[in-house]
Amino acid sequence: MCLNCKVAGFTESASGVTVRLADGPTVQGDVLIGADGIKSTVRAQIVGETPVTYTGYVAWRLTVPRENLPQDTMDLVGAVWCGPKNHAVLCWLCSGRVLNFVGCPERAEWEDESWTQRRPWEELKAEYAGWHPMIQSILDAADRNECYRWALNNRKPIYNWSTARATLLGDAAHPTLPFLAQGAVMAIEDAAVLARALEGSDTVAAALQLYQRNRVDRTARVVTESTEQGGLYHIVDVEEMKRAFAKKNVAKERAEWLYCYDPLNVTLN
Ligand SMILES: Cc1cc2nc3c(=O)[nH]c(=O)nc-3n(C[C@H](O)[C@H](O)[C@H](O)COP(=O)(O)OP(=O)(O)OC[C@H]3O[C@@H](n4cnc5c(N)ncnc54)[C@H](O)[C@@H]3O)c2cc1C
Repeated sequence: MCLNCKVAGFTESASGVTVRLADGPTVQGDVLIGADGIKSTVRAQIVGETPVTYTGYVAWRLTVPRENLPQDTMDLVGAVWCGPKNHAVLCWLCSGRVLNFVGCPERAEWEDESWTQRRPWEELKAEYAGWHPMIQSILDAADRNECYRWALNNRKPIYNWSTARATLLGDAAHPTLPFLAQGAVMAIEDAAVLARALEGSDTVAAALQLYQRNRVDRTARVVTESTEQGGLYHIVDVEEMKRAFAKKNVAKERAEWLYCYDPLNVTLN
C-alpha cells in the first residue's frame, strides 16, 4: 500500500504493469485502474492529452447547519429551484442535520487557473437576487467565509479507455456535469462492474474489455443527458419553462433507465 503518492506514468508488458511515481519509485502490479479524476494522468497516457472544456457553468457549494435555518426551511427531501440561466439544488446531509446548497449560475468565462476558489459571500448573494425567500434565508445563514465556487468542466464521451493492463474509472473515464447528480454514482457503478469482470474473466485484458463494453453506453448517456439537463433548468422565460417541464416527466424517465440499473446483477456480455 502506498498512500499520498502522485502517479506520473506507467509501462505495461504481457505479464504486468509498472507505475512510476512522481518522486521516483515504481510500483508493480497485474492491473492499473486510473481513478484519478477529471485531470487524470493515466487517462492522458491511454487516450492522449485532450483538453477539458469549460462548460459556461460554475457551481457554488456551501453547507448550513439545520439549527441556523428557519424551522420551516424544507422537509427531508431534495429540491431543485430553477430560474433564468441559473439553478440551485438543495439536499439534506447527515440525517438532516446539515443542508447542502449547490448553485449553478452561468458564467461566460473562467479566467483563473484554479478550478476551486473561495469567493465573497456578497457575490453569491448577488447571483440569487430576487429568488424565493427560502433561498435567501439559506444564503443569509451561510458561513460567509466558506462560500466556494467551482468551474464546471467536462469532456466529450470516449468509447475506449483501456489497454491490455490499464483502465479508467469514474471521472477519469467520463467526467460529467453534476446536473443529474450521477458523477460519483457512475464511479461506484464502474467499480462494481469492474470487480465482477475481473472475477469472472480468464485474463486481465478480457476483463478490462468486458468492463468497458458494459459501461461505455450508459456512462456516455449520463454525460450527454446531464449536459441537456442544464438547458432545461436554465430556461429564461417562465411560461416556456412550464411548458418544457409539462412535456417532460423527469422522474418517470429517470426511473426507467437511470435508477433501475443494478451494477451487481446486470448481465455482463
Ligand atoms: C458541484 C458538484 C456537485 C456534484 N454533485 C454530485 C452529486 O450530487 N452526486 C454525484 O454522484 N456526483 C456529484 N458530483 C460529481 C462527483 O463529485 C464526481 O463525479 C466524483 O467525485 C468522481 O469521483 P472520482 O473518484 O472518479 O474522481 P475524484 O473524486 O476527482 O478523485 C480523484 C482522486 O485522484 C487523485 N489524483 C489525481 N491525480 C492523481 C495522480 N496523478 N496520482 C495520484 N492520485 C491522483 C485526486 O487527488 C483525487 O483524490 C458533483 C460534482 C460537482 C463539481
